[in-house]
Amino acid sequence: MLSWSVGRATITSIVESETPTSPRFLYRDMGKADVLARAEAAPWLRPDYVSDEGYLRQKIQCLVIELDDLLVAVDTCVGNDKSRSNDLWDHLDGPFLDDMTAAGFDPERITHVVCTHLHVDHVGWNTRLVDGEWAPTFPNARYLFVDTEYRHWRQEESLFDGEDPFGDSVAPIVEAGLADLVEPDHRIADGIRFESTPGHTPGHVSVVVESDGDRAIITGDMLHHPMQLADPDLSSMFDTDPDESRATRRHAFPRWADGRTLVIGTHFGTPTAGRLEARGDGYELVSDRA
Ligand SMILES: [Zn+2]
Repeated sequence: MLSWSVGRATITSIVESETPTSPRFLYRDMGKADVLARAEAAPWLRPDYVSDEGYLRQKIQCLVIELDDLLVAVDTCVGNDKSRSNDLWDHLDGPFLDDMTAAGFDPERITHVVCTHLHVDHVGWNTRLVDGEWAPTFPNARYLFVDTEYRHWRQEESLFDGEDPFGDSVAPIVEAGLADLVEPDHRIADGIRFESTPGHTPGHVSVVVESDGDRAIITGDMLHHPMQLADPDLSSMFDTDPDESRATRRHAFPRWADGRTLVIGTHFGTPTAGRLEARGDGYELVSDRA
């Protein structure tokens, strides 16, 4: 299990799934040969993030931040028992909650749940099926939704046909009185705050953790794959505003490449995190190795 120390804080990865992904799922018209060509120009991408066959090594994970009395779960993956149009995500019956508990994070202890945005693979474990109803998985937590993001998806169709992640994973939280609608620069406490990173979705945020002079950023989906560090102009086909997401990356990466900020990629394969170093027009993710 991966975890990182950031001053007094610890960030732990609870992985729900890890799969080689076809590039066409994320980047329209990009084939495996195109991915291998990008990896030739940025050799650090292989083998951790690009397989020898040109698949993208991706994971779906929840990142749990421990800082003093706070236990903040960032992004809640796909979830079990949900009707989803993607066969890989439909009616999952996985051990995520057991894994989380075994890691020392009993769901009842979570103080805050953050969804960087309200896409299907970031809200799933907000709820779980109890006696045929969607009940909050983290009954003692405040769930923080960015107001702009919440209003957008309340009126918008789901990303994929035939599923309703808002209805089964967001609305029940509001009905249970556990939701707080917040601004995109919200500060949870000293040391944990949001950074507005719109474009992938209208109210998308990344999460900044600062403690004792150390800093980490949990990206969310302002980028999906480390290829977008090497080429910050590359936008995913799921970005609601590809130009805005490009501008967000161009604005964020130079600031994050300060030599001390640990960048943790929400969908990046292992090792998942590193520090940014400028390389030409883009960046390399440099990971500490044991
Ligand atoms: Zn995602």
